[in-house]
Amino acid sequence: MRRSLVPGSLALLALVGCYGSGDDPAEEVAQAARPPTVVRCGTASPADATLAAAQLRIEAAAPPVVVVEVPVMFHVIRRGTNASAGNVPLAQLNAQLSVLNAAVQGSRLSFVLAGVDRTTNREWFTMGHGSSAEAQAKMALHRGGPGTLNFYTCNPSQGVLGWATFPWSYSSNPTDDGVVVNFASLPGGTAAPYNLGDTATHEVGHWMGLLHTFQGGCDPGSAADFVSDTPAEATGATGCPTGRDSCASSTGMDPIHNFMDYTDDACMYEFTAGQSDRLGGAWQAFRAPL
Ligand SMILES: [Zn+2]
Repeated sequence: MRRSLVPGSLALLALVGCYGSGDDPAEEVAQAARPPTVVRCGTASPADATLAAAQLRIEAAAPPVVVVEVPVMFHVIRRGTNASAGNVPLAQLNAQLSVLNAAVQGSRLSFVLAGVDRTTNREWFTMGHGSSAEAQAKMALHRGGPGTLNFYTCNPSQGVLGWATFPWSYSSNPTDDGVVVNFASLPGGTAAPYNLGDTATHEVGHWMGLLHTFQGGCDPGSAADFVSDTPAEATGATGCPTGRDSCASSTGMDPIHNFMDYTDDACMYEFTAGQSDRLGGAWQAFRAPL
């Protein structure tokens, strides 16, 4: 059983604190030029008991035997009708879908465009995680059931790039279900080095049941991310720190190229076979139509 857990808020503080604080001088220079206030992910770590209960259901579920097409409802929240005001063009939404589908090609899941709606609302445009503005936006815009991906784009407050709900949370709060992503992080956006669409890949990973690769840190007794082929990692990695090995007790280098770490978009390019299996199991356990 896991003995310790890094609360989401502490993980975020640790990430923010990482900028410009590397031991290596070259890394320090590289990181000093990075955005000082970006928070890679606002998704909170679930409680141990919640994860344990979810794990029982995921392990009991048979993965999908055919390709599952997941309908995606894009909710574009903007402050005006220009692209710079968050009015993401359809081509960019389609490019995001292509990024998502490339990421999950090792699973039996794929994403298809189901619809796009556009809402001009300055308060919702800067909604924060857990805010009343977020609740109002989702109450008005959420569509479908547990198997529909509700994908909100906006410009979240406090530099947060995105957050997601987990599949096991659907039953207790269906309206909250989905991912929220900074519109500038979509492919071709302005949020470099986070503008290749992998903020959404990471958040959709959470939405489908994946945890951070650094969940549980280096604790050898930890259940960590419940995936056997992602080596343990002390904290989220930033930039693209080749050769980082933050857990001496763990076999394998830190999984800096994994979508569920905190590295730059250009650095992350894989879900492992174990993660793909978990995606399928979690889908069947929590999101597949009855
Ligand atoms: Zn995350």
